[in-house]
Amino acid sequence: MATNSGLLDRLMKGEVKMHELDDLLPPEEAQELRLLFIEKKHGFSLPKISSGIIASGSSKSNIENMIGSVQVPLGMAGPIRINGENARGDFFLPLATTEGALVASVNRGCHAINSSGGAEVVVLSNAQARSILFKAESVKRSKEFSLWVESNFSALKKIGEEGERFLEILDIVPYVIGLNIYLRIKASTSDAMGMNMITFAGKRIADYIVKDQAIRFISESGNLCVDKKPAAINLIESRGKRVLASVNLSEEVIKKVLKTDSRSLIDMNYRKNLLGSAASGSMGFNAHFANIIAAMFLSTGQDMAHVVDGSLGFTLVEEIEHGVNFSVTIPSLQVGTVGGGTGLPTQKECLMVLGCFGSGSPAGTNSLKLAEVVASAVLAGEISLLAALCTKDLSRAHKELNH
Ligand code: NAP
Repeated sequence: MATNSGLLDRLMKGEVKMHELDDLLPPEEAQELRLLFIEKKHGFSLPKISSGIIASGSSKSNIENMIGSVQVPLGMAGPIRINGENARGDFFLPLATTEGALVASVNRGCHAINSSGGAEVVVLSNAQARSILFKAESVKRSKEFSLWVESNFSALKKIGEEGERFLEILDIVPYVIGLNIYLRIKASTSDAMGMNMITFAGKRIADYIVKDQAIRFISESGNLCVDKKPAAINLIESRGKRVLASVNLSEEVIKKVLKTDSRSLIDMNYRKNLLGSAASGSMGFNAHFANIIAAMFLSTGQDMAHVVDGSLGFTLVEEIEHGVNFSVTIPSLQVGTVGGGTGLPTQKECLMVLGCFGSGSPAGTNSLKLAEVVASAVLAGEISLLAALCTKDLSRAHKELNH
């Protein structure tokens, strides 16, 4: 490193940029020198940041200007019994979080679910979405162009899928606002979450369109996708996987495990998750989907910003004979078991614990399995939190476990 002291001086003077070190030095030395530079700039050392296990240069596709890594505690909840279409059996749930009481709460939900025979889970739809944006010269042309897109779907689909082994374009829907035409492309992306795949496909389609049509291409993303923002279109039409998980809880289980009763659960869900959410204009008609989704996304290498999309959805508690049907509907769950952060060392191990690392057999089944596991964990979290609110135990649990 002593030989790099000249480079450190040049970094300090602003003559060399942090990212330029990757072209000048081997990955490990570049990372070490960036850290030294940050330490020198701030006047204190950062020994913990550099002590991670992610090898320098090994996650180039995940990060730029790497100086080390941060760590988050990982706890295990479960096992939880899942009767899904792709996830079947008992699963331990890896939850990475700094919120004390979360793992314990999900664990209690798992107990209630297991005592009731397990969670029933289905994936209703499965399509990533990306909207590309064009501008016409008149509203007449906006209409003509959107009709042209509809009647040329097969050609556009072929262009979009070119060179991709795992992408299948399912639909291209034009949304017209004045002179602006948003083409919302929907595609299945197999075991990948799919945002890179579909974005590349969108660009190929746009390039083809501008060659063939008198229309201006404005953006590779027109925000009608919509990615990483809370949006009604994702709640209603879905994006990623639309997953439903449910369990019938008997009065006995509600009393024994959750220390409450079915009437209280139904009433609490109506007043809090449905009425309270409606009154506040929230699109998350649930207690805390985001909590469980964030913890599972972190542990399994998902794109964390998609917690926003995952936070949308409904928790329902409906009366049945001798108990309740408790269900969660998650309309916009973005998960993958290949690509993104799924191959990072600890994230890979968590996916292995769930039995869904990498490409599924057949391809596509691993990401469906992961979606079903996440939805089951969300169901457990909703059950436990709603029950804690019924018994006024939320503060007590957090006081006991957070302090
Ligand atoms: P990706 O990281 O680009 O990897 C997907 C690739 O994995 C496929 O192209 C395929 O490549 C390979 N693969 C191997 N087995 C597969 C299987 N069974 N199913 C699907 N693919 C398989 O993944 P991505 O999900 O498309 O993109 C995720 C990344 O996009 C994340 O890092 C996320 O943060 C980022 N992101 C991008 C945007 C954007 O606008 N571009 C937006 C949000 C997030 P081969 O056919 O070559 O093997």
